[in-house]
Formats: sequence, C-alpha cells, structure tokens
Amino acid sequence: MAEEKLSFQAEVSKLLDLVVHSLYSNKEIFLRELISNASDACDKLRYAALTQPDLLSGGGGDFRILVTPDKTARTLTVADNGIGMNREDLIDNLGTIARSGTAAFLDQITGEAKGDMNLIGQFGVGFYSAFMVAEKVEVISRKAGEDQGWRWTSDGKGEFTLAEDADAQRGATLILHLREGEDEFLDGHRLRNIVKTYSDHIALPVVLVEDGKEEAVNSASALWTRAKSEITPEQYKEFYHHVAHAFDEPWATLHYKAEGAIEYTGLLFIPSQKPFDIFHPDRKQHLKLYVKRVFITDTCDELLPPYLRFVRGIVDSQDLPLNISREMLQHNPLLAKIRTGLVKRILSELKKKAEDADGDYATFWSTFGAVLKEGLYEDFERKSEILDLCRFATTVSDEPISLATYVSRMKEGQEAIYTISGDDIEALKKSPQLEGFIAKGIEVLLLTDPIDEFWPNAITAYQEKPLRAVTQGAADLSAIKGAEGAEETRPEPAAGDAMASLIAAVKLALGEQVKDVRSSDRLIDSPVCLVADEGDVGLHLERLLRQHQQ
Ligand code: ADP
Ligand code: MG
Repeated sequence: MAEEKLSFQAEVSKLLDLVVHSLYSNKEIFLRELISNASDACDKLRYAALTQPDLLSGGGGDFRILVTPDKTARTLTVADNGIGMNREDLIDNLGTIARSGTAAFLDQITGEAKGDMNLIGQFGVGFYSAFMVAEKVEVISRKAGEDQGWRWTSDGKGEFTLAEDADAQRGATLILHLREGEDEFLDGHRLRNIVKTYSDHIALPVVLVEDGKEEAVNSASALWTRAKSEITPEQYKEFYHHVAHAFDEPWATLHYKAEGAIEYTGLLFIPSQKPFDIFHPDRKQHLKLYVKRVFITDTCDELLPPYLRFVRGIVDSQDLPLNISREMLQHNPLLAKIRTGLVKRILSELKKKAEDADGDYATFWSTFGAVLKEGLYEDFERKSEILDLCRFATTVSDEPISLATYVSRMKEGQEAIYTISGDDIEALKKSPQLEGFIAKGIEVLLLTDPIDEFWPNAITAYQEKPLRAVTQGAADLSAIKGAEGAEETRPEPAAGDAMASLIAAVKLALGEQVKDVRSSDRLIDSPVCLVADEGDVGLHLERLLRQHQQ
C-alpha cells in the first residue's frame, strides 16, 4: 500500500509550533517523555496479557527499553516491546490530542504567555517534545496481537505520513533524526546521565546500546517498592513527573505501606500547581492502581472521592486478585477499604501540614481549597475533619484563617459565625450589610468561591456555633459586646412611631418587589440594604442563578 499523507489536528499543529519555537531551555526532557511513554506501553501490554497471554508471543515477555545513538546516521532511537500502535492508534494518539479543554488551553498561551514555561508545563507536551531536538521523527510500530506493522513519519509541520511496514517488531521504535547542533544526544555519557537523572525510577530496564554493547542504565525497580531511606527527593520528584504527567514540584509527598487487614503501598503526591483541568465537570480521580506491581488502571474512580482529585501517584495492592477486570473493581469491598485508608492518610497529612508553620499550607489552600471544600457536603463522615482544614479570608484578616481561630476571637455574646459571599473580596468588603459588624469589630468570613454557595447548607454548626450569612435573615447585634468605643459611631435610632411610619411608607412604595421591610442595627452609614429571608436562596446565589438564567 502506498504512503498516505494526513494532517495533524489544528491543536497539535499549534502545540508543535510552541514546542519548537518558544519553549524549554532544557530540551533533554524529551528523552524522559519518550521513555515514560515506552514504560506506559509495556505496562499496558503486561496488563492485557494477564487475560490474553498470546499477546506476548513474538517479542518476548521481558520488557525493556533500548536507547541507541547512531553517530553516522545522526539518529537517536528509542525502542520498546510494549503494546504498540496500529494505524488507527497512530492517527489518534500521535495526530490528535484527546484531552478535553486542550483548545481552550492553547488559546490561552498566545502572545504574552507564549514564553510561559509553567503554563505549558502544566499541560505537558509528551511525545511532541521529540520535535525539540529532531527535525524528523519516525515511529515504526506493530500492535501486540496484530500482524500488520506501520511506519509513521513527520517533520512536525502540519502533516504526517503513514505506510505499511512489514518488518515492524511488536511495540514501538522511535527514530529521531536530530536537528543540527543537537549532537550531544548522540553521546553515551550524556545519554546515561539523562536517563539516570530523569528515568531511574522506571521499573523496567532502560538499556543503552553503544557499539553493539548493551548496558542497563537505571535501577529498574519500581520506586515505591524501595525503602524510603534509599529514595532521594529528586527521585521522588522525577517519579511524580512521570506518574502525573506533571512538571511542577510536588507540594507534598506521601509514601507508606499499609499493613494489617489490607496491604498496599501508596506513593501519593499533592501538586504545587493547579492542573489546568481540575474543574472539568468529569471530576475524575488520577491515582494509578497496581496489583502486585502490575499496572491495572488509571481510571478507577472508586479509588478516591472527587474532592481529593488533585492527588496524584500510585497505589499498589497486595490483596486484589491480579486478573481482576476493571469492571469488577467497581464494587470490590477491598477497594472500598483501600479508599477509606487513602482518604484517612491524605486528610491527616493535610492536617499535619496545616499545623506545621513551615508546611506552607497557604499554598495548598489557595491552589486546592475550593476542591477540598466539595468534601464538606460530599463526605458526611469526614466533614468536620475537612472543616478543620478549611481557611477563610475575613473582614479582619486577608491571610486566611481557620474556623478555630475565628471562634477563639468571637466577641462576647456573639453566638454565630458570620459569613458573606460574593465574587470578589474587595467588593464584598464594601457591602452595606457589613457596616454594623465592622463597627462592632465583629469578624465576618468572606466567601468568594462558587462552591461557597453550597457547603454552608451542609454544615449546621462549628463548635456549636451556627453559620449565618449576614445577607440573610434578621441580625440582632445588640446582644454582642462590640469593641471599646464602637457604639458611639451609631446614629441615634429613630423614635418608635417615626420608624413605624417610615417602614409603612417604604413597604407601600416597593409593594410586591420585597417580602418585608424591617429596621436593622446592621447599618451604620448606608440608609438601607437588601437581605434575603432566612431559608430563602442567598443573595449571591440568586445573582449567580440569574446569570445562568435558571
Ligand atoms: P501521554 O503520555 O500523556 O498520554 P504523549 O503525548 O506522551 O501523552 O503520548 C500520546 C499517546 O501516544 C499515549 O497516550 C499513547 O497512547 C501513545 N504512545 C506514545 N508513545 C507510545 C509507545 N511507545 N507505545 C505505544 N503507544 C505510545
Ligand atoms: Mg507521555
């Protein structure tokens, strides 16, 4: 069959343009990406072969990754004997980007943001990073269990070609034709170094093939099976980059072995940067599940509740059966126990970090607080534990504080925890509804995440103090002893009769538009303000709903 020419999806072309022209000072990471993919491909085949052992015939069961520089041809070849790709896979995986939100994301990184490594780093360019060092890339591949091999070729400029290849071995072989000036990637020392630095944790041998000699370069044992004392922070970080397809520093690393009723190893990470798709409606969790070191799946949503979907890493179970199908996992009681164990560990790690002054909890909170708060109404059993982890900006403190801190400085006679919600902190601070509170020095929580409209309904009280929105219901501040001298700023209240007739006149004027008109001691400077009735939809939520025309 003749060669076919196909076009990259527009997003791929954009991404390739970014990769080649503006990014990455450390180009060497392309090798990490290719080795990472090769390792994933071997993991996938190992899993598939559990139920279809025939898939391993022709290519052997000893998975390995070969890295071969050729100084004469100026090529660098990375070959694996993993699952491989057929024609469709090559088109789908190397010609399109399936991740949702990609187009929107790429539109963000034009102009000013173009040089922003962090932004593109969050996204990850994976396979396409090969074009940082190669002017042409060939992928020769045969999918496990299939007879027909394929050759994919591209110079990364909008098009790629596909042709049948009779000699393709099971797995994928990538031949990188290096750009001028990239000869360092033909040098054995340099390659050895890169593999050691970025890919030591890869669980199968990465073999350097030089002058016909083969040399395994990495440790080739799954990182999580090694003793903690033998793992450096750098190695943890590289593993995190591999497993999470991430590029930032992990904010927290949690490596432990659960023993007793259920046995599993967890190597978990909390990122320091917000993944670009953290608020995607699918709310999928991202842990990879292994059983006795065999990769099973990275789409097992039963492993973690959605409010912990920012956690990355692996769980390796000793107890689950190896031949468990992904479908059967869903209702497995062992898995439910692992989930409980994971949630407990993660929340207690967060607690530890929150209590540790050097733990930089504020970073975590500003990155993932809005996600964690979903747990307040989704995890009934743990909501008080989660509430303890929550932080809030207030009328008194820009630095977010805990509810414990809030309660500890409540005024004498104050019975409730007061809140106000809206889109923007600065606008909120100017709300007329706050005047009386500010005058009395009563602290009010400023809630600005969309999620803040929902969870307060699930929280009846904290340390027996109910949560109360200052824009809702009557606020009787007279019982609360304010700060010294605060009372004097309050204007003399109108005499009873005068107030009654004023209220009657206002009611008459507004008619059906309001439910009631009341005098209030929450105002100081402003003559009037709007409040919602107790039990009605709050003001901010009402505005949000109206925006969405609900
Ligand atoms: P990611 O690894 O994040 O999925 P990449 O851009 O690195 O993204 O790779 C895209 C896809 O191409 C992979 O998900 C995989 O399906 C496929 N792929 C890449 N390299 C290989 C390989 N060596 N063997 C089999 N499939 C591969
Ligand atoms: Mg990849």
